[in-house]
Amino acid sequence: MEIAKNLSVILDRLPNRVKLVAISKMKSEKEIMEAYQAGYRVFGENKVQELVRKQEVLPNDIEWHMVGHLQSNKVKHIAPFVHLIQSVDSLKLLKIINKEAAKNNRRIDCLLQVHIAREETKFGFSNEEIIEMLNSGEWKELKSIRITGLMGMATFTDNRDLIRSECKSLKAFFDEVKKRYFEREPSFYELSMGMSGDYTIAIEEGSTMVRIGSLIFGERHNH
Ligand SMILES: *Cc1c(COP(=O)(O)O)cnc(C)c1O
Repeated sequence: MEIAKNLSVILDRLPNRVKLVAISKMKSEKEIMEAYQAGYRVFGENKVQELVRKQEVLPNDIEWHMVGHLQSNKVKHIAPFVHLIQSVDSLKLLKIINKEAAKNNRRIDCLLQVHIAREETKFGFSNEEIIEMLNSGEWKELKSIRITGLMGMATFTDNRDLIRSECKSLKAFFDEVKKRYFEREPSFYELSMGMSGDYTIAIEEGSTMVRIGSLIFGERHNH
């Protein structure tokens, strides 16, 4: 019952424009079903194997998001059902998603992951790489994918000012990309930023989608 309660507390705080993706990585099917029974349908995972396993056993009307680093050779496993791939970090990956989507007679929506945090290890494009890729124009030929926005992860820190400035710069970059490449495309809309520790700041700075795990399901324990 905790899960249903946590979920409703968060949903109550979200402005209408902001969508919540419940990040269920490392959580059991039973825990996900608790959120499902409370009426929730949008879940995100960061590992292909785990995502596929859960999708197979859980109800069909769940909207699954992929939020973790995605290897090209694994795209085929999620292409039949994934709703949104939030972690696209290369043109090569985008092309493979396009190919696998076509095989499944689908169009797959994608977010480009932008590297905004200071940490070296996080995946994602730099701003320059995104501009370079969009300038190349090759992505326009990919008819089975649609770029619907950007995703970013701020530095994991207690420093609220740093988080806010990273969110601000991602929002400014989003606005620039929108203006330069997607001005006439209402489908380029999504700015996925904000997690358990920083979602209120992210929303104040213009997020349209938050990805929240531990505040809903409790801390994750590695085993
Ligand atoms: C785990 C994860 C989240 C959720 O993290 P919490 O701090 O538990 O809310 C959000 N986004 C991505 C990409 C993640 O891997």
